[in-house]
This record gives sequence, C-alpha cells and structure tokens, in this order.
Amino acid sequence: GNFVPPIRNNGGSTSNMTSRVIGKNDDSMGDSTRKCLEMLCGPDGELPEKLRNLEPRLIEHVSNEIMDKDPNVRWDDIAGLEHAKKCVTEMVIWPLLRPDIFRGCRSPGRGLLLFGPPGTGKTMIGKAIAGEAKATFFYISASSLTSKWIGEGEKLVRALFGVACCRQPAVIFVDEIDSLLSQEQQTDLKNWMKQHGGDLQNVYIFPFLHQARAWIIRNLLEKDGLFKLTEEETNIVCKLTEGYSGSDMKNLVKDASMGPLREALQQGVGITKLNKEDMRPVMLKDFETALQEVRPSVSSSELGTYEEWNRQFGSLA
Ligand code: ADP
Repeated sequence: GNFVPPIRNNGGSTSNMTSRVIGKNDDSMGDSTRKCLEMLCGPDGELPEKLRNLEPRLIEHVSNEIMDKDPNVRWDDIAGLEHAKKCVTEMVIWPLLRPDIFRGCRSPGRGLLLFGPPGTGKTMIGKAIAGEAKATFFYISASSLTSKWIGEGEKLVRALFGVACCRQPAVIFVDEIDSLLSQEQQTDLKNWMKQHGGDLQNVYIFPFLHQARAWIIRNLLEKDGLFKLTEEETNIVCKLTEGYSGSDMKNLVKDASMGPLREALQQGVGITKLNKEDMRPVMLKDFETALQEVRPSVSSSELGTYEEWNRQFGSLA
C-alpha cells in the first residue's frame, strides 16, 4: 500500500494519455486496448490514479507482454539452490506475506540481486517468489529498454510500475540488469556496488551440484514416463556433467531423449507409421551421445569471476 514507484511522474497530460474514465466513443483506442484498461478499472469504473496520464498502448503492452498472472513455478520445481531458496524465502516471501511482522529491524532490503551464470534458475526463482507469495509476476529485460524501447524506456518503466501498483502484491523481475551499466561501470562492478548497492541483498545462483543434476534428469524423464536409468547410471551421467547449468541439463536430457527415436527410425519405419510403444527407453548410451553435442555453456574461468564476486558481495561466505 505504501509502495512508491522509483520513477517520478512528470504529470503533463497529452492527447494520447489515459484519463480518469475510459470514453466509450474514444476512437483513438482499439478494442483490445480499451478492454485491457477496463480490466484495470476499479469497482467505480474509474481508472486508478496511478494509471492516469500514461499512454494506453504502453499499459496494454505491460498487461499483455510483461505481466504474468499465474507464473506457475513453485520451489519444488527448482532443483538444488537450497541456500538461495532459504535466503529468498526470508528476505522476500515472508515480508510479502506478513508485512506487519517485517517492520523496524526486520524491514526487508530495498531489493534482491540474484547473480550467476545464465541458465541456472534465476528467472525460475523470480517466478517462484511470485507463485509462493501469490503475487503477480512482471518480467522485463533491462537490455530491451536500451535496444527495443530506445528513448521510451522510462515511459515503459513508469507504465510497468503503474500497473504493478494496481496488481499488488507484485514481483517485478528485471533481467540482465548489468546491461544498464556503462562499460566503465561494468569493469568496476565493485565500486558500482559500493555506491548503489546499499542495502541490496546479493544471492549467488551457481551451476548445479551432483544431486541437483540427478534430480533434473529424473524429473524431466519421469514426466514423460521415460526414466529407466539405474542409480549407478544416473551417477555416471552426473559425474560427466560437472559444471553444467540447469538449462544445459535440460538440453542434454532433451537430446538424449531423441536417441530411442533416431534408433527406431533407422530400422526403416517412417515417422508417421512409428508405433510409440516400440521405442526403447532412454539409456546411458543416449546420454553419452548427447554429451558430445551439449557442452557446458559456462566456462570455468567465467565461473571463477562469479565466485570471486560472491566472496566479496554474496550472502554465501
Ligand atoms: P537464468 O534466469 O538463470 O538465466 P532460467 O531460470 O531462465 O535461468 O532457466 C532456464 C531454464 O533452465 C528453466 O526454464 C529450466 O527449464 C532450466 N533450469 C535452470 N535452472 C534450473 C533449476 N535450478 N531447476 C530446474 N530447472 C532449471
């Protein structure tokens, strides 16, 4: 309720801004835009104050492309990352669920920075926060503000916070935030953190440990009824996938699951005639073949940089 958007509202309405009441005969607005604004209106049929003076097309973009009412990710869908889950639960989910308890010395930090190599589950954590706290999820990539929305980034961010205000509780996930830093700031992240970090909490999201890799193999294959590996075989795959991220593992399983299909097709049966039941289960040899194709996406030197950063700023000692 006390939420204040970080962008100042410059006021000053122009003809293409929304007003208090959505005019039924307003021809400048398409049907889909009108419908979208109507859904944001209060029971009195008026548009909330925070949305007035914003451009309707931007509100529509936020509602349709950035907002996700049901992100549908829970903690149980995320492999490993136990420390991150615990930190995020205490730092964000509990304060969202019980703002009355998280006051004074328990006040939460201003923001949460999840950092780590790509494909390790940061976006999933953002969605799970929203899912667990029954909040609306908003996803925006900071790099799109400087590429796609050149010159309009600030207006879009204002529309984003306006809609999020009307959809509280809300989680706003800003991806690739480092793209907002200049080259100079990027090379001197440490100083940037000292100046702007303040009470920002940092949680390191790192590539999978052995057990989490086993979990993802089993989980993905079991969903399709294809998991038939023994514990020993699963362990062999896990040993061969040291340093693989969550998305690398997903790609590996996907590739391995093609093995039985490719083999069945080699027998000469066409794809349209192929009997699903005739395909053998996914085996260790499929993973061995897939490992030739799917390599870890994060190099050990890149990983070293994240680990060094974690030592300086992360929540893991
Ligand atoms: P990031 O935001 O860190 O770049 P994502 O959360 O977008 O990574 O992950 C990309 C995909 O990889 C997910 O949709 C999921 O399928 C898989 N994945 C990554 N990390 C995990 C994880 N910890 N547990 C389960 N799946 C994961």
